[in-house]
Amino acid sequence: MSAPRLRGDLDRFPVYRPGRPAPAGPGRTYKLSSNESPLGPLPSVRDAIAEAASRAHLYPDWTAAALVATLAERHGVEEGRVVVGSGSSEVLSQLIRAVAGPGDEVVYAWRSFEAYPSLVVAAGATPVQVPLAQGGRHDMPALAAAVTPATRLVMVCSPNNPTGTTVTHEEMVALLEAVPTDVAVLLDEAYCEFDRSEDGPRADALLAAYPHLVVARTFSKAWGLAGMRIGYGVAPLGLAAAMRRMAIAFGVTGLAQAAALASLEAEGELAERVADVVAQRDRLVAALRGQGWDVPDAQGNFVWVAAGDSTDALGRVLYDNGISAREFEGEGVRITVGSSDATDAVIAACALAATAPAG
Ligand SMILES: *Cc1c(COP(=O)(O)O)cnc(C)c1O
Repeated sequence: MSAPRLRGDLDRFPVYRPGRPAPAGPGRTYKLSSNESPLGPLPSVRDAIAEAASRAHLYPDWTAAALVATLAERHGVEEGRVVVGSGSSEVLSQLIRAVAGPGDEVVYAWRSFEAYPSLVVAAGATPVQVPLAQGGRHDMPALAAAVTPATRLVMVCSPNNPTGTTVTHEEMVALLEAVPTDVAVLLDEAYCEFDRSEDGPRADALLAAYPHLVVARTFSKAWGLAGMRIGYGVAPLGLAAAMRRMAIAFGVTGLAQAAALASLEAEGELAERVADVVAQRDRLVAALRGQGWDVPDAQGNFVWVAAGDSTDALGRVLYDNGISAREFEGEGVRITVGSSDATDAVIAACALAATAPAG
């Protein structure tokens, strides 16, 4: 008896590694490996989800009309340009599959979001990875230079997961000017709400000016809805329609739509939470730099410690002290910023690792 035959290119698919759970106690432990919010949903959001649960026997509104109308107004675009998905991961998947297939290339910086390689390979397209520049920043001229006649999409992640750095508005303009308008350009802004840089990309102005730009946003990070699975993109009209054709039928649940709408209504309260995370982040960055760690500009809800060869050792000390972070072997450790207690615990553990003898 033989097992079912699998697709021939299966080995090309990178295996996705979910963030490690928090270590087992005793004592307080922290899961800082998935860039989640440290706080549960606001009461108003929880109520909206509970109310939507009474309609769980019905298919959701596939067009997500109420949410799409709200998002279109926020971005000053027509409704047809807004595409929702089951997390912005699904929006990225829709985008990649709408523009690229076998023989086509998708250009992006590396290291960046771990899902990019698998999404590109799943579409049958070829990933073209452009190494990050000094300090974990995108090398924007190199990204533009990597565009060939086979390129269908260039992806920019700002703030970049996992290095935390941003691109500037001017750099984004230069890239959009350099890339021909028949090649789509993605600006993945999963963490933009945490960005306090003064010259970051102004997405709505760019969307108004460039006919090949797609901006992706998620409710998973700053809005604290990672478990609801909802995100969206704003794309040129024709591309948005193509992306919708790539969507999973009814992939965005009614609960997720209700949660997103309620969150947008509670924007002020959520902005306070974001400000708290930003304050913890800046405190963490200053402390880790003071200990001698190489920490680039951090504009997301996480901090990148470019630990290089000490990555394993740092990850082990964190874990032994009750903290699961995300290690990238030989490169560094990404640590999610959460509560003030978590920040204290990370600072203490990193101090131990900084003074521990190597090996
Ligand atoms: C978390 C993340 C996303 C989207 O996550 P979803 O939960 O699928 O919305 C997209 N891009 C980057 C860079 C991320 O870190």
